[in-house]
Amino acid sequence: MLTPATDDDGAPFWDYARAGELRVQACAACGRLRFPPRPCCPHCHSFATDWRLMSGRGRIWSYVVPHPPLLPDYAAQAPYNVILVELAEDPRIRLVGNLVTAPDAPLNSLDPARIRINTPVKAVFHDGIPRWLAV
Ligand code: ZN
Repeated sequence: MLTPATDDDGAPFWDYARAGELRVQACAACGRLRFPPRPCCPHCHSFATDWRLMSGRGRIWSYVVPHPPLLPDYAAQAPYNVILVELAEDPRIRLVGNLVTAPDAPLNSLDPARIRINTPVKAVFHDGIPRWLAV
């Protein structure tokens, strides 16, 4: 099982994901989103933080199809895709994930040749992991 490595700053992201919510850290002082999670706002330097609920909508900003050599858990699932999703709420916020055909579909459920940059996507969750469906 491929599970996320978390730290204190990122733990809330994964707690919300396990609850089926896509939330991104926001500055409680200036309101701007930031990702990856970190203690201090890069814009106003405040340490006050909120976790803002996102729509789960975005678009594919870029993608790769990893090739061997891969870690053993990943090698068994190749070829698969890794997409970079630009969130609808703020195009500066980009999340790494996988484009799949259904929330519980295998990592390699989608032919990588079908992926197009700018495709609208929506977040779904499986075992506490955000994944992406084309919409
Ligand atoms: Zn701020």
